[in-house]
Amino acid sequence: MNTNESDARLISLKRAEVLKKSILPYLQTKENIVTGLDIKEEIKKRQQKIKELFNASEEEWNDWHWQIRNRITDSNTLSKIINLSETQKNDIIKVGNKFRWGISPYYASLIEPVGNHLKDPIYLQSIPTGLELCDDIGDPDPMGEEYTNPEECITRRYPDRLIINVTNQCAMYCRHCQRRRNIGEIDTPRSQEDIYKAIEYIKKNPEVRDVLITGGDPFTLSDDLIHWILGELDKIPHVEYKRLGSRMLVTLPQRVTEDFCNMLKKHHPVYVNTHFNNPKEVTEEAKKACEMLADAGIPLGNQAVLLKGINDDPHIMKKLNHELLKIRVRPYYIFHAKGVIGTMHFRTSVDIGIEIMEHLRGYTSGLAIPTFIVNAPKGKGKTPMLPEYLISHGRDKITIRTWEGEIIDYPNKDSDDLEKVITDRENNAINLK
Ligand SMILES: *Cc1c(COP(=O)(O)O)cnc(C)c1O
Repeated sequence: MNTNESDARLISLKRAEVLKKSILPYLQTKENIVTGLDIKEEIKKRQQKIKELFNASEEEWNDWHWQIRNRITDSNTLSKIINLSETQKNDIIKVGNKFRWGISPYYASLIEPVGNHLKDPIYLQSIPTGLELCDDIGDPDPMGEEYTNPEECITRRYPDRLIINVTNQCAMYCRHCQRRRNIGEIDTPRSQEDIYKAIEYIKKNPEVRDVLITGGDPFTLSDDLIHWILGELDKIPHVEYKRLGSRMLVTLPQRVTEDFCNMLKKHHPVYVNTHFNNPKEVTEEAKKACEMLADAGIPLGNQAVLLKGINDDPHIMKKLNHELLKIRVRPYYIFHAKGVIGTMHFRTSVDIGIEIMEHLRGYTSGLAIPTFIVNAPKGKGKTPMLPEYLISHGRDKITIRTWEGEIIDYPNKDSDDLEKVITDRENNAINLK
C-alpha cells in the first residue's frame, strides 16, 4: 500500500468505529424486545390449553372456519384463558355493550395469561379496556369517509385508485379500529349485488387503475367469493392490478391455505398489505402464512398504526420492521392514529412518529423504512411526515441535514438546455471558419 492508500484505510477504519458505536443502544435494547418466534414454546403450551377448553382437535385448531366460529366474545370464556380481575371483567362487559369485540382463539394464545395486561401489546389491541369509555372527544368518522362514497361500497379519495369495502367482518376487532362505525354488532358481508355495483362503477370510470379490496377483512370471505371479485376485476382492461388489505396474516394466519394461494395466483398481479404492529405478532404461524403468500408470488406490505404502549418507540418499531423483512413483508406505511371515538388513549403526538423516522433513516436499511402518514381531516388524503432534512432552500443551492445531523450545502442547479448547448457549439464552429 502506498501512503495515500494506507491513510484512506485508516480513515475508513475510524469511520467504521464511529458507525459501530452508533448502533450500540439499539443492539443492547433489542435483546429485550420479545418476538412471537422467541416464545414459540410458551405459545404452544397456551394453545394446548385453549384446545382443551374448546375440546378442539389439532385439525380444528388449524381450520380457519373453526377459528372464526369460535371467536371469543364474552368475558367468561376469556377468563378461562387469561387471568382477569373483576374490574377487567366489568370493563369488558361495559365496553362490549357499546363497541363490538371478538378475538380468534389463535390471537388469544398470544396474550400472556398472567401479568400486567395493560403492558401487553396483544391484550391492548384485542381486549376492551375501561379507557374506551373515558373518551368523549373522539369522532366516529374523523376521515369523513361518509362523504367519499360515490357508490355503496366504494371509498374514493384519489384520482386513479379506490377502495371496495366488501365486508364488516374481521377475525379480531382491533381496539384501535378506525372503521369502528362500520363494524356494528353482527357480521354482514356485502351482498354480491352490492359488490357488483362497485365493479360496475369501476367499469364506467376508466381512470381507475388500482383497486383495493378491504373491509372489515376481505380474507373472511370464502375463496369462491374472492375468486369471483378478482375475476370480475381481471375482466376490466383499465384495472392494472389489485390489492387486498387483510389483518388475518396476524390475527388468524390459518386462513392462508394452499387452495387460497393457488386461487390468488390465478389473478396476478395481486398485492397484499397486512397490519403487524408489534414484534410479538411475528409467530411461527404468521411467518408460515406470509411465506406461503410470498411463494405464490404476492408482494407483501405492512401498514402499521402508531399506538401508545404498543409500538411508540424507535427500537420496537425498528425491530418490528426487521422481523417483517425476515418473513418477506416490506414495511409500507406507519399511520398516525386517527381521532376515532373510543380509541383516543392509543394516540401519540405526531412528533413521536417523526422521531421514529429519524431513528430509522441511515441507521437501518431503506427496505426497513416505511412512510409515516398523517391522514388529513375530512378525507383529504394521506400526507407524509418526515424529519426536516432540507434546512434551507436557495435558488442555486440548498442546505441539507444528513441522517447524522451534519449540515452541508448542496448545489441546486439545472443543467443547461441540451439543444441550446449544441446549437451554440455549432454556431461557434461556423463563426471560427
Ligand atoms: C389509503 C387509501 C388508498 C391507497 O393509498 P396508497 O397510498 O396508494 O396505498 C386508496 N384509497 C383510499 C380511499 C385510501 O384511504
